[in-house]
Amino acid sequence: MTRARRAERTGASGDRVLLVATRSAHKLGELRDLLALERARLVSLDEIGLDGEPVEDGETFASNAALKARFYARLSGLPTLADDSGIEVDALGGGPGVRTRRYAGDDATDAENNAKLLAALDGLAPAGRGARYRCALAFVEPDRAGPRGGLPVAARSGTLEGRIAAVPRGRGGFGYDPIFEPAGEVPGGRTLGEWSPAEKNAVSHRSRAARRMARVLAARGY
Ligand code: IMP
Repeated sequence: MTRARRAERTGASGDRVLLVATRSAHKLGELRDLLALERARLVSLDEIGLDGEPVEDGETFASNAALKARFYARLSGLPTLADDSGIEVDALGGGPGVRTRRYAGDDATDAENNAKLLAALDGLAPAGRGARYRCALAFVEPDRAGPRGGLPVAARSGTLEGRIAAVPRGRGGFGYDPIFEPAGEVPGGRTLGEWSPAEKNAVSHRSRAARRMARVLAARGY
């Protein structure tokens, strides 16, 4: 490995650099806390000035996470972690699923997505409002290409079961949190928007996936 190549792969402290395929500072911070890696420095796409977006046309969270991890690992030459997440609602046959972020339209706000989901479930009793958050994480190392050039993916996922509330409550979290009642709450109890960040991090889909992925990364020396 050349000196330049080695410098690209290690931070000033000698820690290995791991790219997180996100432009969200919130997600980067959350993954930093959840993974708590001892020998790696996590950087975002914007921190290393990486442009470009893959087409996220996978039919599952796992396939979208994998295609993002492969895309940015090839582009950057860095070990890359990608996540894809969303909500599945039983009454919608598992939708909006991979369309979670764009449920009410390509540029929909969280409030518009929440309003559309509440309208779709209007009149349904709590037993018919079952839902879950899902998070898929994918990790790719660019120098592990197989004989045909394909990059193997290490994948881990996590879920959080719950139900869609009748009305929004709480200002915490983001996305669908004000209308998501975790399964441990009684119908009409607290939504994730009313949970503290620490409570959410203890059980969330993303934290479960991250804890599982942290073990994979630790075993590979990160
Ligand atoms: P992604 O950034 O493309 O993975 O979009 C995932 C979407 O799913 C977000 O924009 C949110 O709407 C929703 N989502 C994922 N995780 C959460 C969560 O922890 N709370 C609330 N909404 C979430």
